[in-house]
Amino acid sequence: MLEQDETVIKRRCGDCKMCCKLLGVASIKKERGKWCPSCDTKKGHLGCKVHTPELQPQECQTFECLWLQSTAEEIPDHWRPDKLKIVLAASRPVEGQVQSVVAWVDPAYPRALRIPEVVNTLSNLVTQQGIDVTAICGSRTFKLGEVKDNREIVPTDVH
Ligand code: SF4
Ligand code: SF4
Repeated sequence: MLEQDETVIKRRCGDCKMCCKLLGVASIKKERGKWCPSCDTKKGHLGCKVHTPELQPQECQTFECLWLQSTAEEIPDHWRPDKLKIVLAASRPVEGQVQSVVAWVDPAYPRALRIPEVVNTLSNLVTQQGIDVTAICGSRTFKLGEVKDNREIVPTDVH
C-alpha cells in the first residue's frame, strides 16, 4: 500500500498542520490533542516556527502521516488530515504488510469517526486486512472492532 512509483509527484502538507495538534511529542512534553506552542496555525503560514530542521524534535523530523505517504488513488485528497480531522499513521510494514494503524482524531471533532466512508475504510482494515486499528481522541484510546448496523465502529475503551 505504501510503495510508490518514483515518477509520482509526492504529496505536500500544504496548509495542513494537524499532526502538530493531534500527536504528542514526548521530547518537548507536547500533549496529544493540543496545538504545539511552536506551531503557527494561521492559514497559509508555515506550520512549525522552529524552522531549522536540526532544532525540530526528532519525532517531528521523521513523521509522515499515511495521507502524505499515499497517492490520491490510495487515499483521496479530501482525506487530508486538516479536512478529515483525523491523522492516520501506520506502523512500519513487516514483509510488506502494515500491522497496525492509529487514527488520531481531533477532540474538537470526535464525530469524524462516524463519517460513513471513514467507518467503511477503517472497518475494512480491521475485518478484511486483519490490521489492528486504534483510535486516539485526546486522552482517550479506543481499539476499533466490528461494525454495528453498518454505520458505527464498535469501540473498546482501552483507557
Ligand atoms: S498530518 Fe500529515 S499532511 Fe498534515 S502536516 Fe502532518 S504530515 Fe503533513
Ligand atoms: S515542534 Fe514544530 S513540527 Fe513539532 S509539533 Fe511543534 S510545531 Fe509541529
